[in-house]
Amino acid sequence: MTENNVEPELRSTIAVLGLGPMGRALAAAALTGGHPTVVWNRTPEKAQAFVAQGAVLAPTAADAVRGASIAVVCMINYGAVRASVADIADWPTGTLVNLSSGHAGEARAMAGWAAQRGISYLDGAILTPAPTVGTRAATILYSGPRSLFDRSRALLEAFGTSVYLGDDIGIGSAYEMALLDLFAMSVGGLAHAFALAIAEGIEPAAFARFAKGIGGLLPDMADRFADQLAVGRFPAEVSSIASAGSAVAHVSAAAAARGIDTTTLQAVQRIIGRAAAAGYGGDSYARLAQFLAEADHADASAELATPKPSLPQLSH
Ligand code: NDP
Repeated sequence: MTENNVEPELRSTIAVLGLGPMGRALAAAALTGGHPTVVWNRTPEKAQAFVAQGAVLAPTAADAVRGASIAVVCMINYGAVRASVADIADWPTGTLVNLSSGHAGEARAMAGWAAQRGISYLDGAILTPAPTVGTRAATILYSGPRSLFDRSRALLEAFGTSVYLGDDIGIGSAYEMALLDLFAMSVGGLAHAFALAIAEGIEPAAFARFAKGIGGLLPDMADRFADQLAVGRFPAEVSSIASAGSAVAHVSAAAAARGIDTTTLQAVQRIIGRAAAAGYGGDSYARLAQFLAEADHADASAELATPKPSLPQLSH
Protein backbone atom coordinates (compact mmCIF):
# COMPACT_ATOMS: atom_id res chain seq x y z
CA MET A 1 0.00 0.00 0.00
CA THR A 2 1.11 3.56 -0.59
CA GLU A 3 1.49 4.27 3.11
CA ASN A 4 2.79 0.77 3.84
CA ASN A 5 5.38 -0.56 1.39
CA VAL A 6 5.56 -4.38 1.78
CA GLU A 7 8.49 -6.30 3.24
CA PRO A 8 10.86 -7.78 0.61
CA GLU A 9 9.78 -11.36 1.42
CA LEU A 10 6.16 -10.49 0.56
CA ARG A 11 7.06 -9.07 -2.85
CA SER A 12 5.88 -11.10 -5.77
CA THR A 13 5.25 -10.44 -9.43
CA ILE A 14 1.91 -8.84 -10.19
CA ALA A 15 0.58 -8.59 -13.74
CA VAL A 16 -1.94 -5.86 -14.54
CA LEU A 17 -4.00 -6.37 -17.70
CA GLY A 18 -5.87 -3.28 -18.88
CA LEU A 19 -4.56 0.25 -18.47
CA GLY A 20 -7.63 2.47 -18.46
CA PRO A 21 -7.85 4.93 -15.54
CA MET A 22 -8.54 2.09 -13.09
CA GLY A 23 -5.93 -0.29 -14.52
CA ARG A 24 -3.37 2.51 -14.36
CA ALA A 25 -4.22 3.09 -10.70
CA LEU A 26 -3.80 -0.65 -10.01
CA ALA A 27 -0.44 -0.76 -11.83
CA ALA A 28 0.76 2.33 -9.94
CA ALA A 29 -0.26 0.71 -6.64
CA ALA A 30 1.59 -2.51 -7.50
CA LEU A 31 4.75 -0.54 -8.30
CA THR A 32 4.41 1.64 -5.21
CA GLY A 33 3.99 -1.50 -3.13
CA GLY A 34 7.43 -2.60 -4.34
CA HIS A 35 6.19 -5.56 -6.39
CA PRO A 36 7.82 -6.51 -9.70
CA THR A 37 5.06 -5.42 -12.10
CA VAL A 38 4.26 -6.60 -15.61
CA VAL A 39 1.64 -4.70 -17.61
CA TRP A 40 -0.28 -5.38 -20.78
CA ASN A 41 -2.84 -3.27 -22.60
CA ARG A 42 -4.56 -3.56 -25.98
CA THR A 43 -3.11 -0.13 -26.76
CA PRO A 44 0.50 -0.55 -25.59
CA GLU A 45 1.35 3.19 -25.71
CA LYS A 46 -0.54 3.62 -22.43
CA ALA A 47 2.10 1.50 -20.69
CA GLN A 48 4.99 3.87 -21.33
CA ALA A 49 4.77 5.78 -18.04
CA PHE A 50 4.90 2.50 -16.12
CA VAL A 51 7.84 1.17 -18.10
CA ALA A 52 9.67 4.38 -17.15
CA GLN A 53 8.95 3.51 -13.51
CA GLY A 54 10.31 -0.02 -13.81
CA ALA A 55 7.36 -2.08 -15.01
CA VAL A 56 7.81 -4.60 -17.80
CA LEU A 57 5.52 -4.28 -20.83
CA ALA A 58 4.51 -7.72 -22.10
CA PRO A 59 3.65 -8.21 -25.79
CA THR A 60 0.57 -10.33 -25.00
CA ALA A 61 -1.64 -11.01 -21.98
CA ALA A 62 -0.40 -14.62 -21.96
CA ASP A 63 3.20 -13.37 -21.74
CA ALA A 64 2.25 -10.94 -18.98
CA VAL A 65 0.82 -13.58 -16.65
CA ARG A 66 3.48 -16.27 -17.21
CA GLY A 67 5.75 -15.45 -14.26
CA ALA A 68 3.16 -13.66 -12.13
CA SER A 69 1.65 -14.80 -8.83
CA ILE A 70 -1.50 -12.86 -9.57
CA ALA A 71 -2.80 -11.17 -12.70
CA VAL A 72 -5.31 -8.41 -12.07
CA VAL A 73 -7.49 -7.71 -15.08
CA CYS A 74 -9.50 -4.49 -15.21
CA MET A 75 -11.22 -3.61 -18.49
CA ILE A 76 -14.40 -2.04 -19.74
CA ASN A 77 -16.42 -5.27 -19.66
CA TYR A 78 -16.19 -9.07 -19.63
CA GLY A 79 -16.24 -9.19 -23.43
CA ALA A 80 -12.98 -7.22 -23.52
CA VAL A 81 -11.54 -9.49 -20.81
CA ARG A 82 -12.50 -12.65 -22.68
CA ALA A 83 -10.96 -11.33 -25.90
CA SER A 84 -7.74 -10.36 -24.10
CA VAL A 85 -7.12 -13.47 -21.99
CA ALA A 86 -8.21 -16.04 -24.59
CA ASP A 87 -4.64 -17.23 -25.17
CA ILE A 88 -3.75 -17.78 -21.50
CA ALA A 89 -3.13 -21.46 -20.83
CA ASP A 90 -0.74 -23.60 -18.80
CA TRP A 91 -0.45 -21.18 -15.88
CA PRO A 92 -0.73 -23.40 -12.81
CA THR A 93 1.13 -21.11 -10.41
CA GLY A 94 -0.93 -17.95 -10.58
CA THR A 95 -4.41 -16.59 -9.96
CA LEU A 96 -6.43 -14.48 -12.38
CA VAL A 97 -8.28 -11.75 -10.47
CA ASN A 98 -10.93 -10.05 -12.60
CA LEU A 99 -11.95 -6.63 -11.26
CA SER A 100 -13.85 -5.54 -14.38
CA SER A 101 -17.50 -4.54 -14.01
CA GLY A 102 -20.17 -6.99 -15.09
CA HIS A 103 -23.12 -8.94 -13.75
CA ALA A 104 -23.09 -12.12 -11.71
CA GLY A 105 -23.91 -14.35 -14.71
CA GLU A 106 -20.85 -13.04 -16.54
CA ALA A 107 -18.64 -13.74 -13.52
CA ARG A 108 -19.95 -17.32 -13.33
CA ALA A 109 -19.42 -17.87 -17.06
CA MET A 110 -15.88 -16.49 -16.75
CA ALA A 111 -15.19 -18.85 -13.85
CA GLY A 112 -16.39 -21.74 -16.05
CA TRP A 113 -14.00 -20.62 -18.79
CA ALA A 114 -11.12 -20.50 -16.29
CA ALA A 115 -11.98 -23.91 -14.82
CA GLN A 116 -11.89 -25.49 -18.29
CA ARG A 117 -8.31 -24.23 -18.69
CA GLY A 118 -7.18 -25.11 -15.17
CA ILE A 119 -6.75 -21.41 -14.32
CA SER A 120 -7.32 -20.33 -10.71
CA TYR A 121 -9.88 -17.53 -10.74
CA LEU A 122 -11.18 -14.89 -8.36
CA ASP A 123 -13.76 -12.31 -9.31
CA GLY A 124 -14.19 -8.93 -7.71
CA ALA A 125 -15.45 -5.39 -7.86
CA ILE A 126 -13.88 -2.06 -7.01
CA LEU A 127 -16.38 0.12 -5.16
CA THR A 128 -14.39 3.35 -5.00
CA PRO A 129 -12.93 5.72 -7.64
CA ALA A 130 -9.50 5.21 -9.22
CA PRO A 131 -7.70 7.87 -7.08
CA THR A 132 -8.43 5.85 -3.91
CA VAL A 133 -6.60 2.75 -5.22
CA GLY A 134 -3.41 2.05 -3.33
CA THR A 135 -4.82 3.47 -0.09
CA ARG A 136 -7.02 2.01 2.67
CA ALA A 137 -9.88 4.16 1.30
CA ALA A 138 -10.22 1.83 -1.70
CA THR A 139 -12.79 -0.89 -1.03
CA ILE A 140 -12.46 -3.96 -3.22
CA LEU A 141 -14.85 -6.92 -3.00
CA TYR A 142 -13.66 -10.44 -3.80
CA SER A 143 -15.53 -13.68 -4.37
CA GLY A 144 -14.45 -17.19 -5.24
CA PRO A 145 -12.62 -20.06 -3.51
CA ARG A 146 -11.53 -19.05 0.01
CA SER A 147 -8.17 -20.81 -0.37
CA LEU A 148 -7.37 -18.70 -3.46
CA PHE A 149 -8.30 -15.49 -1.71
CA ASP A 150 -6.18 -16.40 1.33
CA ARG A 151 -3.24 -17.22 -0.91
CA SER A 152 -3.54 -13.92 -2.83
CA ARG A 153 -4.51 -11.67 0.04
CA ALA A 154 -1.08 -10.28 0.91
CA LEU A 155 -0.62 -9.14 -2.69
CA LEU A 156 -4.16 -7.82 -3.04
CA GLU A 157 -3.54 -5.58 -0.03
CA ALA A 158 -1.41 -3.42 -2.36
CA PHE A 159 -4.63 -2.16 -3.97
CA GLY A 160 -6.77 -1.26 -0.97
CA THR A 161 -9.03 -2.73 1.68
CA SER A 162 -9.97 -6.27 0.64
CA VAL A 163 -13.42 -7.60 1.56
CA TYR A 164 -14.00 -11.32 0.97
CA LEU A 165 -17.69 -12.09 0.34
CA GLY A 166 -17.74 -15.86 -0.06
CA ASP A 167 -17.15 -18.71 -2.46
CA ASP A 168 -20.08 -17.88 -4.78
CA ILE A 169 -18.01 -16.44 -7.63
CA GLY A 170 -20.88 -14.15 -8.73
CA ILE A 171 -21.59 -12.49 -5.40
CA GLY A 172 -19.04 -9.67 -5.84
CA SER A 173 -20.61 -8.71 -9.16
CA ALA A 174 -24.09 -8.99 -7.66
CA TYR A 175 -23.16 -6.46 -4.96
CA GLU A 176 -21.53 -4.22 -7.56
CA MET A 177 -24.60 -4.20 -9.82
CA ALA A 178 -27.00 -3.36 -6.98
CA LEU A 179 -24.67 -0.58 -5.80
CA LEU A 180 -24.28 0.74 -9.36
CA ASP A 181 -28.08 0.71 -9.59
CA LEU A 182 -28.17 3.05 -6.59
CA PHE A 183 -25.37 5.21 -8.01
CA ALA A 184 -26.77 5.42 -11.54
CA MET A 185 -30.29 6.30 -10.41
CA SER A 186 -28.97 8.82 -7.87
CA VAL A 187 -26.68 10.55 -10.38
CA GLY A 188 -29.49 10.56 -12.95
CA GLY A 189 -31.73 12.15 -10.33
CA LEU A 190 -29.06 14.73 -9.50
CA ALA A 191 -28.69 15.74 -13.16
CA HIS A 192 -32.47 15.94 -13.58
CA ALA A 193 -32.87 18.00 -10.40
CA PHE A 194 -30.19 20.49 -11.50
CA ALA A 195 -31.91 20.77 -14.89
CA LEU A 196 -35.22 21.61 -13.21
CA ALA A 197 -33.56 24.07 -10.82
CA ILE A 198 -31.74 25.82 -13.69
CA ALA A 199 -34.97 25.97 -15.73
CA GLU A 200 -36.61 27.66 -12.75
CA GLY A 201 -33.82 30.26 -12.63
CA ILE A 202 -32.11 28.91 -9.51
CA GLU A 203 -28.33 29.40 -9.31
CA PRO A 204 -26.58 25.98 -9.36
CA ALA A 205 -24.48 26.83 -6.28
CA ALA A 206 -27.54 27.94 -4.33
CA PHE A 207 -29.30 24.71 -5.31
CA ALA A 208 -26.28 22.54 -4.38
CA ARG A 209 -26.43 23.83 -0.81
CA PHE A 210 -29.83 22.18 -0.31
CA ALA A 211 -29.26 19.21 -2.65
CA LYS A 212 -26.52 17.98 -0.31
CA GLY A 213 -29.09 17.73 2.46
CA ILE A 214 -31.20 15.34 0.36
CA GLY A 215 -28.16 13.12 -0.25
CA GLY A 216 -27.51 13.14 3.48
CA LEU A 217 -30.88 11.44 4.11
CA LEU A 218 -29.87 8.29 2.25
CA PRO A 219 -27.62 6.59 4.87
CA ASP A 220 -30.39 6.49 7.51
CA MET A 221 -32.90 5.44 4.85
CA ALA A 222 -30.66 2.51 3.85
CA ASP A 223 -30.67 1.30 7.47
CA ARG A 224 -34.46 1.76 7.76
CA PHE A 225 -35.04 -0.15 4.49
CA ALA A 226 -32.79 -2.98 5.71
CA ASP A 227 -34.54 -3.19 9.10
CA GLN A 228 -38.04 -3.25 7.55
CA LEU A 229 -37.09 -5.70 4.79
CA ALA A 230 -35.53 -8.03 7.39
CA VAL A 231 -38.79 -8.36 9.33
CA GLY A 232 -41.19 -7.91 6.38
CA ARG A 233 -43.16 -5.09 8.03
CA PHE A 234 -43.40 -1.65 6.45
CA PRO A 235 -45.02 0.91 8.76
CA ALA A 236 -45.14 4.31 7.04
CA GLU A 237 -43.78 6.22 10.05
CA VAL A 238 -42.03 8.84 7.92
CA SER A 239 -43.79 8.72 4.56
CA SER A 240 -46.01 6.36 2.57
CA ILE A 241 -45.80 5.08 -0.98
CA ALA A 242 -48.98 7.01 -1.83
CA SER A 243 -47.46 10.23 -0.51
CA ALA A 244 -44.22 9.62 -2.44
CA GLY A 245 -46.34 9.00 -5.56
CA SER A 246 -47.99 12.37 -5.10
CA ALA A 247 -44.56 14.06 -4.76
CA VAL A 248 -43.33 12.42 -7.96
CA ALA A 249 -46.47 13.62 -9.76
CA HIS A 250 -45.74 17.21 -8.65
CA VAL A 251 -42.16 16.99 -9.94
CA SER A 252 -43.29 15.42 -13.20
CA ALA A 253 -45.77 18.25 -13.80
CA ALA A 254 -43.12 20.86 -12.95
CA ALA A 255 -40.60 19.27 -15.34
CA ALA A 256 -43.18 18.94 -18.12
CA ALA A 257 -44.10 22.61 -17.69
CA ARG A 258 -40.45 23.49 -18.33
CA GLY A 259 -40.15 21.11 -21.28
CA ILE A 260 -37.75 18.80 -19.42
CA ASP A 261 -37.80 15.06 -20.19
CA THR A 262 -40.09 13.24 -17.73
CA THR A 263 -39.45 9.67 -18.88
CA THR A 264 -37.72 8.55 -15.68
CA LEU A 265 -40.30 10.24 -13.46
CA GLN A 266 -43.09 8.55 -15.39
CA ALA A 267 -41.39 5.19 -14.89
CA VAL A 268 -41.24 5.78 -11.12
CA GLN A 269 -44.88 6.90 -11.17
CA ARG A 270 -45.85 3.68 -12.98
CA ILE A 271 -44.07 1.50 -10.42
CA ILE A 272 -45.64 3.38 -7.52
CA GLY A 273 -49.04 3.13 -9.23
CA ARG A 274 -48.72 -0.64 -9.56
CA ALA A 275 -47.66 -0.98 -5.91
CA ALA A 276 -50.59 1.17 -4.80
CA ALA A 277 -52.98 -0.86 -6.97
CA ALA A 278 -51.66 -4.01 -5.26
CA GLY A 279 -52.70 -2.50 -1.93
CA TYR A 280 -49.39 -1.13 -0.64
CA GLY A 281 -50.08 2.62 -0.92
CA GLY A 282 -50.19 2.98 2.88
CA ASP A 283 -46.86 1.21 3.41
CA SER A 284 -43.42 2.80 3.61
CA TYR A 285 -41.18 3.21 0.58
CA ALA A 286 -39.16 0.15 1.63
CA ARG A 287 -42.18 -1.95 0.61
CA LEU A 288 -41.51 -0.88 -2.97
CA ALA A 289 -38.18 -2.77 -2.89
CA GLN A 290 -39.94 -5.97 -1.88
CA PHE A 291 -42.71 -5.34 -4.43
CA LEU A 292 -40.15 -4.93 -7.23
CA ALA A 293 -38.19 -8.00 -6.12
CA GLU A 294 -41.29 -10.20 -5.87
CA ALA A 295 -43.44 -9.16 -8.79
CA ASP A 296 -42.99 -10.22 -12.38
CA HIS A 297 -42.40 -6.92 -14.14
CA ALA A 298 -41.15 -8.39 -17.41
CA ASP A 299 -44.13 -7.02 -19.33
CA ALA A 300 -43.69 -3.52 -17.94
CA SER A 301 -39.94 -3.51 -18.73
CA ALA A 302 -40.58 -4.74 -22.28
CA GLU A 303 -43.05 -1.91 -22.72
CA LEU A 304 -40.34 0.60 -21.76
CA ALA A 305 -37.61 -1.09 -23.82
CA THR A 306 -39.59 -0.88 -27.05
CA PRO A 307 -40.96 2.66 -27.17
CA LYS A 308 -43.67 3.29 -29.69
CA PRO A 309 -42.29 5.16 -32.71
CA SER A 310 -43.17 8.83 -32.45
CA LEU A 311 -42.17 9.66 -36.02
CA PRO A 312 -43.89 8.45 -39.19
CA GLN A 313 -42.11 5.37 -40.58
CA LEU A 314 -40.44 5.70 -43.97
CA SER A 315 -41.86 3.31 -46.52
CA HIS A 316 -39.53 1.55 -48.94
P1 NDP B 1 -12.75 1.66 -19.03
O1 NDP B 1 -13.99 1.08 -18.45
O2 NDP B 1 -12.91 2.64 -20.13
O3 NDP B 1 -11.78 0.48 -19.53
C1 NDP B 1 -10.63 0.78 -20.24
C2 NDP B 1 -9.82 -0.46 -20.48
O4 NDP B 1 -10.58 -1.46 -21.21
C3 NDP B 1 -8.59 -0.15 -21.32
O5 NDP B 1 -7.52 -0.95 -20.87
C4 NDP B 1 -9.05 -0.54 -22.70
O6 NDP B 1 -8.00 -0.82 -23.60
C5 NDP B 1 -9.79 -1.81 -22.36
N1 NDP B 1 -10.65 -2.25 -23.45
C6 NDP B 1 -11.79 -1.70 -23.89
N2 NDP B 1 -12.31 -2.42 -24.90
C7 NDP B 1 -11.45 -3.46 -25.13
C8 NDP B 1 -11.43 -4.54 -26.03
N3 NDP B 1 -12.42 -4.73 -26.91
N4 NDP B 1 -10.41 -5.42 -25.96
C9 NDP B 1 -9.41 -5.26 -25.05
N5 NDP B 1 -9.38 -4.23 -24.16
C10 NDP B 1 -10.40 -3.35 -24.19
O7 NDP B 1 -11.88 2.42 -17.92
P2 NDP B 1 -11.54 2.17 -16.39
O8 NDP B 1 -10.11 1.75 -16.33
O9 NDP B 1 -11.92 3.39 -15.66
O10 NDP B 1 -12.47 1.01 -15.88
C11 NDP B 1 -12.08 -0.36 -15.91
C12 NDP B 1 -13.10 -1.14 -15.08
O11 NDP B 1 -13.04 -0.67 -13.72
C13 NDP B 1 -14.53 -0.95 -15.58
O12 NDP B 1 -15.19 -2.17 -15.55
C14 NDP B 1 -15.11 0.03 -14.55
O13 NDP B 1 -16.50 -0.13 -14.40
C15 NDP B 1 -14.35 -0.36 -13.28
N6 NDP B 1 -14.31 0.72 -12.30
C16 NDP B 1 -13.73 1.92 -12.63
C17 NDP B 1 -13.70 2.96 -11.72
C18 NDP B 1 -13.00 4.25 -12.00
O14 NDP B 1 -12.92 5.11 -11.10
N7 NDP B 1 -12.48 4.47 -13.21
C19 NDP B 1 -14.34 2.81 -10.38
C20 NDP B 1 -14.83 1.48 -10.12
C21 NDP B 1 -14.84 0.50 -11.06
P3 NDP B 1 -7.46 0.37 -24.57
O15 NDP B 1 -6.63 1.26 -23.70
O16 NDP B 1 -6.69 -0.35 -25.60
O17 NDP B 1 -8.67 1.08 -25.12
